[in-house]
Amino acid sequence: MTLTVPNLLGPADDNTPPKLSAHAAGLTAALAADHKFHLAFPGATDLVYPDLAAILTGQLLNNVGDPFDPGHGRNHTKPYEIDVVRRLGALFGADPARVWGYVTSGATEGTIHAVHEAATTYPSVVVYSSTAAHYSVTKAAVLVRAPHVMIRVDDRGRMLLDELRDRLFEFRDRPAMIVATVGTTEHEGIDDVAGIAGLCDDLNITDRRIHVDAALAGIPLALLPAHDRPAFGFDAGATSMVVSGHKFPSTLMPCAVILYPHPPHQPAGPISYIGAADTTVAGSRSGHTPLVLHWSLAGQGLDGHRRRADAARELAAYTHDRLQHLGWNSHWTWPAFTITLAQPTRPLPQPWVLGGDRRTGRIITMPGIQQAWIDEFLIDLATSHWARTTVIPRQRSRRRGGPGTPS
Ligand SMILES: *Cc1c(COP(=O)(O)O)cnc(C)c1O
Repeated sequence: MTLTVPNLLGPADDNTPPKLSAHAAGLTAALAADHKFHLAFPGATDLVYPDLAAILTGQLLNNVGDPFDPGHGRNHTKPYEIDVVRRLGALFGADPARVWGYVTSGATEGTIHAVHEAATTYPSVVVYSSTAAHYSVTKAAVLVRAPHVMIRVDDRGRMLLDELRDRLFEFRDRPAMIVATVGTTEHEGIDDVAGIAGLCDDLNITDRRIHVDAALAGIPLALLPAHDRPAFGFDAGATSMVVSGHKFPSTLMPCAVILYPHPPHQPAGPISYIGAADTTVAGSRSGHTPLVLHWSLAGQGLDGHRRRADAARELAAYTHDRLQHLGWNSHWTWPAFTITLAQPTRPLPQPWVLGGDRRTGRIITMPGIQQAWIDEFLIDLATSHWARTTVIPRQRSRRRGGPGTPS
């Protein structure tokens, strides 16, 4: 991996006080210069928060404990956190007056909360997810010591419901926690949440939870017009959901929101020390991330976020179209932001980051990615792979594999 952001730190045993303001300026410049090469990361970067600069850099804020309990102190942002939970709850089909949730450190913490809730309610629960689910599902199942059944996916990364039915039937005498993914990490595949709920109904599995991991794609999908929108929210049978803040909403700091349509049963009582119920996985929690999330959600409104999502999809379509014109093996289906493509087999002149594995990389056209960067990448790709072949002597020009390798 190419490290293009210079390490500006001196040796660890250097005890002379560093010139930190010059250091910060250097780091800022290096990160800015490196930004355009990160085409494979799912974090939007288009929204920034200058209004909040003084609070973000000069104020301690700790939302410890349940957001609906103000607790002892006043240096928190729980009213903003509740507003974020209600806005997102409403977006996903919950009653804003009943919805419960909180701003977590990331989607992993949200999924751990949901799996823990299921395992507390049903100690013999079995966790199901697809093989394309995020590794946080395995982590959560391991933490609560629940068996984890993996279901295979189709070529678009969607859980195979026939296989899920067979496995649910096999363990039909045990409660089920099915983690559906809405926007898988690799292909942005969308599991059929309504179909999963229907299978449980058919098999009469009433002791169940359906957690929807919609970290990446939940908000942009929910903003599609009704006739184009897949059903994956609380109205489709979800019993909890998680969406990330540093992905589509551009909070710039890792965070996520776990949502339940009504407060889950949690044995945790109030902790006198903090003056709030201990209903969160973490203890002390950021008071800054709920504030930034509120600024993103309320500042843009649903229409603003819909325009951001539409523009990102347009750029995804454009990128895929250009790759197809180049004859480069790539794959994309509306309404994803993710284009998968065959990895370049020759070194590119600039340090583009496409993630993935040896065969398949990806470009995720999150808001903040500019079309000019995509164009620059495509020129690098084309020149490194084709311009050079013209100078290779004829008998050696037969390519083995090459960029046409199917992904
Ligand atoms: C990003 C992502 C996660 C993990 O989020 P963290 O914030 O890193 O914990 C989980 N699931 C999906 C589908 C994701 O896209």
